[in-house]
Amino acid sequence: MTFEPARAAGLARLADFVPRAGRAYAAERNTDRGPGDRSNVSTLSPWVRHRLVTEREVVEAVLRRHSLDAAGKFVQEVYWRTYWKGWLELRPSMWARYSANVPPALDALSAAERATYDDAIVGRTGIEGFDDWARELVELGYLHNHARMWFASIWIFTLRLPWQLGADFFLRHLLDGDPASNTLSWRWVAGLQTVGKTYLATMQNIEFATEGRFRPRGLAESAPAVEDDAPIPTPGLAPRPESLPNGRVGLLLHEDDLHTESLELGAAEVVAVASPRAGEPRTTADAPASPLVTAFTAAALADGRARAAAHFAAAASALDGLTASAIRDWANDHDLTAIVTPFAPVGPVRDRLDQLDDELGDDLTLARILRPWDALAWPHATRGFFPFRERIPALLREQQIGLERH
Ligand SMILES: Cc1cc2nc3c(=O)[nH]c(=O)nc-3n(C[C@H](O)[C@H](O)[C@H](O)COP(=O)(O)OP(=O)(O)OC[C@H]3O[C@@H](n4cnc5c(N)ncnc54)[C@H](O)[C@@H]3O)c2cc1C
Repeated sequence: MTFEPARAAGLARLADFVPRAGRAYAAERNTDRGPGDRSNVSTLSPWVRHRLVTEREVVEAVLRRHSLDAAGKFVQEVYWRTYWKGWLELRPSMWARYSANVPPALDALSAAERATYDDAIVGRTGIEGFDDWARELVELGYLHNHARMWFASIWIFTLRLPWQLGADFFLRHLLDGDPASNTLSWRWVAGLQTVGKTYLATMQNIEFATEGRFRPRGLAESAPAVEDDAPIPTPGLAPRPESLPNGRVGLLLHEDDLHTESLELGAAEVVAVASPRAGEPRTTADAPASPLVTAFTAAALADGRARAAAHFAAAASALDGLTASAIRDWANDHDLTAIVTPFAPVGPVRDRLDQLDDELGDDLTLARILRPWDALAWPHATRGFFPFRERIPALLREQQIGLERH
């Protein structure tokens, strides 16, 4: 299984998976047959994470082939991603809180805990399965959903390591590493997200769902919920679409949305496109993202830039970083009066764009384009996933998705 960082490869993976996205997915998705056989899941997450392929395209392709009834489980999983993004968008301080807590959590480890942590991240704990998943993650940048749940549960309840350090390890190594899905899934396993409800990995479940590949012994027998460091804030307001600038507009791409051809740009005339050469640091500078993640993100940015340049018939520039001076030089070179950029959800890119806004001041505006997919769904992420899930058919109808008859 390989992940080629280009939209064309993501579309090919989608086309290959679509026939299996119906009832077969619902019945088999929980089985982890190992990296040699991922046919029961889509493995689309690295492309979707960067929007090399959008959620809308994935769901549309699946609903052209299957009814919503047959592919309901798959569509729901795609909407888990949207839900987590929306949940964090309404409570941005939860990301700041998590990121700020990673370095102190590492510093606070005792010598014995530090040894356990060092073993855990190289797959040397002696726990069957867990060690294999640690290596699989580092070598491939991908883990099956069930393996992520087992790994997180063993990390928290058997090895008794801080959940934030496990989330950080995942974020640095997953090609699909995502501030919302990753942080909030770890919180969910720890019992912080659905308060009091934890996830306990058991030998029986692992043996069953790996078809006997792993039978780990000595796992924790209970999973008492971890204590949160502060209460969850009440949800704020969801972002709203901004008005689009006119005139000579530059399109600034970033790693959170690399299918700018499908952005709704109104009458803006895009005369130049740019993207940074590399992604933003996902985590603390002392422990950067893995070489796999770094290479995937850089190539994805280049792929997005090249497609946008061809689509808009505009000059393409690779920027050394999302810095005010690089953006000003680019704007001057092309006589830009305004810049548009895809909306960046809560996470490192968003933090950079917010900083850029301050640095650029009033001379250059950076208009952020929110996709209808997000604008319609995020306001409903105020409570748990189950009330959100009820909205899915209406959300699809509002966007005219899957209306063909089967
Ligand atoms: C501890 C933990 C950490 C996780 N970290 C991430 C992460 O950093 N990034 C990430 O994209 N997903 C994360 N997930 C969710 C999920 O495991 C992956 O999205 C999924 O395994 C990706 O594989 P796939 O594309 O084959 O999924 P499929 O089963 O084929 O699902 C299709 C798409 O739906 C979305 N999706 C599926 N399941 C989930 C889910 N539970 N939550 C959110 N979106 C989902 C993904 O975009 C996925 O590509 C995490 C789950 C856990 C338990």
